[in-house]
Amino acid sequence: MKQKIPFNKIYLTGNEISYIKKALKNDHLSGDGFFTEKTQKTIQNFTGCPKVLLTHSCTAALEMSALILNIKEGDEVIMPSFTFTSTANAICLRGGIPVFVDIRKDTLNIDETLIEKSITKKTKAIVVVHYAGVACEMDVVMKIARKYKLSVIEDAAQAYGAKYKNKSLGTIGDLGCFSFHESKNIICGEGGALLINKPKFYLAAEIYREKGTDRTKFLRGEINKYSWKNIGSSYLPGETTAAFLLAQIEKATWINNQRLKIWDYYHKKLFKLEKDGLITRPFVPDVCIHNAHIYYILVSKKLDRNLILRELKSFGINAVFHYIPLDSSFAGKAYGKTLGVLNNTKETASHIIRLPIWIGLNKKTQDFIIDHLESILKINS
Ligand SMILES: *Cc1c(COP(=O)(O)O)cnc(C)c1O
Repeated sequence: MKQKIPFNKIYLTGNEISYIKKALKNDHLSGDGFFTEKTQKTIQNFTGCPKVLLTHSCTAALEMSALILNIKEGDEVIMPSFTFTSTANAICLRGGIPVFVDIRKDTLNIDETLIEKSITKKTKAIVVVHYAGVACEMDVVMKIARKYKLSVIEDAAQAYGAKYKNKSLGTIGDLGCFSFHESKNIICGEGGALLINKPKFYLAAEIYREKGTDRTKFLRGEINKYSWKNIGSSYLPGETTAAFLLAQIEKATWINNQRLKIWDYYHKKLFKLEKDGLITRPFVPDVCIHNAHIYYILVSKKLDRNLILRELKSFGINAVFHYIPLDSSFAGKAYGKTLGVLNNTKETASHIIRLPIWIGLNKKTQDFIIDHLESILKINS
């Protein structure tokens, strides 16, 4: 039988069910119970961020960020176009306007040298996306933000455990957002977290998350009743989700290390194809510690990426492309603004291939993928 190699496969640490059982015994299944508290504390210790709130997705954390920063009708927010829709939606839902900027060819992150040119009187914030868990050039981004008094949101959806100059991603801007969706390294089905790096936002964040009430404060015993304080929504996950996530979070370093081994093996083995000019491999700047969320290659311009994906599939290899640039999409044109043509974004979107990466993918299977990739690329070039 022909083997089928999936692009992604979930990994379970083994403690998920026993933690969920404990949550059931606690007689508390809604949010902000024992496991929510413990998971938040664990993330705080791991990242060094003093205030973490679990959310039901990274999308929710991004939406909370837009609320906290008071993004309003007509406010402009600078971001890459090469990202997931949630990065932009969070801003558009508040009436804000995403301003799409091109990415760097090497890291596929926002080109920090283009940010300043995109600032207008209406600019309120910058959203950076740490693609594949490789950090954006945060020193430059933060310097620009300080100069123009802009807020910074880190879409660190893919970046749990990754660092920039020894700082955990998500802790450098005003707010940071993680995803624990099953497609990420650390998972709980659907889940996320908001990292709040400015004390002045702590209370507002809790209120937006708890349907506009100060219930979180009440639960801590700081007040004796809670009431409606502001607009808000429900952004907190239940205890079973938090319990599942704790089992994963506790093994985060091990999980990322396993993925890094697979990443490193691809990287070493694909050097030859890069030397032959058929592909470009990912680039990780010296100041970055990444988490091996994605192993991607960019195929040479003269190659037909979609044909290569189809041929890989015929051998059972599920490699995939990635984002349709937001500036070129229907909603991106309707709700966003783009200055000029985003050449690197366009090139990347049409030439990127993400290779299977998941715990349990062994060297033999990786060799199978690499050998077929090599022969497909050579035949087609
Ligand atoms: C996965 C992802 C999201 C969305 O995460 P959810 O937890 O599914 O809401 C947002 N931004 C980026 C860059 C992502 O990769």
